[in-house]
Amino acid sequence: MKQSEIIQQIKGKGFKITPQRRAIIDAMLLAERPPTAKEVLDTVRLNFPDVGLDTVYRNLNLLSEIGCVIQINLKNSETSRFEILKRHHHHLICLGCGEATCLEKCMLEKHMDALKDQGYKIVGHAFEIYGYCPQCSISL
Ligand SMILES: [Zn+2]
Ligand SMILES: [Zn+2]
Ligand SMILES: [Zn+2]
Repeated sequence: MKQSEIIQQIKGKGFKITPQRRAIIDAMLLAERPPTAKEVLDTVRLNFPDVGLDTVYRNLNLLSEIGCVIQINLKNSETSRFEILKRHHHHLICLGCGEATCLEKCMLEKHMDALKDQGYKIVGHAFEIYGYCPQCSISL
């Protein structure tokens, strides 16, 4: 999603665009990898030194609720990462450093089709793989 699309989505749901909110969105868009709330805060604080972690969490939760951001690492909320929604995909989470790697393919789609054939109405799914990245594996 582009910045303009996200802003449109927020306005469409009846929320205001504050300078802090815009800065949080920009920090998300600038991040090379899905950031943690703390990393978003560090970026936002360069321009808004008064912003607190609560504000960042509140905004990230809002963005998740309206479907602009997905939360990664469902197992541990403190190390959760947030990513601007692109295509549907899943993540491999390193239990050592917390790095989230985006996986190209969804392996669950055909299972969803099978469930639909059984009469279930499926609205979505979440799936994560946990392990250790090559770097963290060395020091295990
Ligand atoms: Zn790692
Ligand atoms: Zn991803
Ligand atoms: Zn999937």
